[in-house]
Amino acid sequence: MSHSPLQAVRGMNDILPDEAMLWLSFEDTVRAWLEQYGYRNIRMPLLEPTALFKRAIGDVTDIVEKEMYSFEDALNGDHLTLRPEGTASCVRAALQHNLLYNAPQRLYYSGAMFRHERPQKGRYRQFHQIGVEALGFAGPDIDAEHILMCARLWHKLGLRDVTLQLNTLGDAAARQRHREKLIAHFEAHQSDLDADALRRLHSNPLRILDSKNPAMQDLIAAAPSLMSDIDDDALKHFESVQKILRNHKIKFEINPRLVRGLDYYNRTVFEWTTTQLGAQGTVCAGGRFDGLIEQLGGTAAPACGFAMGIERLLALMQELNKPALLNTVDVYIVNQGDQANEKAAILAEQLRDAGLRVLLHCGGGSFKTQMKKADASNAEWAVIIGDDEVRSGQATLKPLHGGEQTQVAFGELAQMIRAKAIVGKFK
Ligand code: ATP
Ligand code: MG
Repeated sequence: MSHSPLQAVRGMNDILPDEAMLWLSFEDTVRAWLEQYGYRNIRMPLLEPTALFKRAIGDVTDIVEKEMYSFEDALNGDHLTLRPEGTASCVRAALQHNLLYNAPQRLYYSGAMFRHERPQKGRYRQFHQIGVEALGFAGPDIDAEHILMCARLWHKLGLRDVTLQLNTLGDAAARQRHREKLIAHFEAHQSDLDADALRRLHSNPLRILDSKNPAMQDLIAAAPSLMSDIDDDALKHFESVQKILRNHKIKFEINPRLVRGLDYYNRTVFEWTTTQLGAQGTVCAGGRFDGLIEQLGGTAAPACGFAMGIERLLALMQELNKPALLNTVDVYIVNQGDQANEKAAILAEQLRDAGLRVLLHCGGGSFKTQMKKADASNAEWAVIIGDDEVRSGQATLKPLHGGEQTQVAFGELAQMIRAKAIVGKFK
C-alpha cells in the first residue's frame, strides 16, 4: 500500500538551506548588536501553564481569546499552552529564579512563537521573534535605549523606510478614567460596532482601538483621546523619551490610537512599521509594562521591552533586495596556470589565517567564467592570480561591488583586505 506524503502543519514553515543561510547571518548580526548593548541571553520552555498567558496578556485580547494553542496534557491533566509571545515566560523565569533580587536585568531571547491565526504573507502559526526585556528599570532612558537599539539594527541591516510610531498609555488610573469615556462613545454608535467590539465594549473597550477591521476605523478615529486623561508624571516620562530621541535625531510620529494588543502595557508604547510588506507592516513592537512583574507574583518592579518578527524583517530585506547579509565569503580567488594555482592555494590559507572567509576557485576555466563565479559568490573582493601576477609577485585585488582594482604584493594582501574591510564596515 502506498501513502501520500505528509505535509507540515498549515501556517508552519520549513526553512530550507538556501533561506537558512539568510537566517544564520541575520542571527549573527542580531547577536553582535545585542552584545553591544549588554543584553544577556535567556532561554525559556516553549510550553507554559495556560494560566501564565491568561494572567499576563489578559483574558479579553485576540491572543487569549482566539489565537492560543492550548490543550490538556493527556498524561496528567495539566493545562498547557505553546507560548504565543515571550514576555510572560521571561518574567516568569526571572521571578522563579530570583534574577531581580539585587539588580535589574537586561535580557533577550529568540525563538518560535505560536498563534492560531489565518496564515497569509507575514502571518504564520509558528513564527519567530527576537525579544528584548529590561526588567527593573523605571526611567525614560531605558525606553529610549530600546528605540535607539532598534534604529541601529535597521541601519546595520540596511533597512530604510521603517518608521516609528509612538504613544503613551499613561498609568492605570488614567486608563480607568478614559475607559468610561470610551464606553460612552462606542455605546452611542453601538449599531456600527462589529462582533469583537460589541463583546469588548464593557469588558475591555481599549482593545476596540486596536481593531484592524477597516469598517471600524472612522469610529475609532472619532473616539475620545486618552492623552487628556494622562497624569503629569506619565506625561513627563513620555516627554523625556521624546527628548532623548530628538537628541539622537530619531524621527517618530505620535499615534494616539496606538494601544498594542496585550493588556500588560502602560506608558510608552511603540511600533516600527513599513509600507513595503502590505497589511503585515509591523516589524517590531514594544513598550513599558510596569505592572506585569507584580501581576505575576513578584515584588513590584518596572520594566519595558520589545519584540521583532524575524520573518517580516527577512521579507523586508528581500523586498529591498539587500544582498549584504548573504555575503558569506569575503574573498574569491581566481587563478589560471599551474604556478598561479599553487600560489593561490598558499594565499588562500594565509588569508584564512588572517581571519578572512575565502573561496578558492578550483577546477580551472577561463578568467571570464571564473569572474562570473566570483560575482555570483557575492564576495566583497576577487583576488586574481595569473602568469603576470606570479612574475611580478603582486596579486590583482578587485572590489566586486564597485571601485578600482589595484596591484598588491602577495605578502601585504591579508593586511590590505582587512584594513579595507574595517573601513567598509563602518562607513
Ligand atoms: P499584528 O498587529 O501584526 O497582529 P501583534 O501586535 O499581534 O502584530 P506582537 O504580539 O506585538 O504582534 O508581536 C511582535 C512582532 O511579532 C510583530 O510586530 C510582528 O512582526 C511579529 N508577529 C506577530 N504575530 C505574527 C505572526 N502570526 N506571524 C509572523 N509574525 C508575527
Ligand atoms: Mg496579532
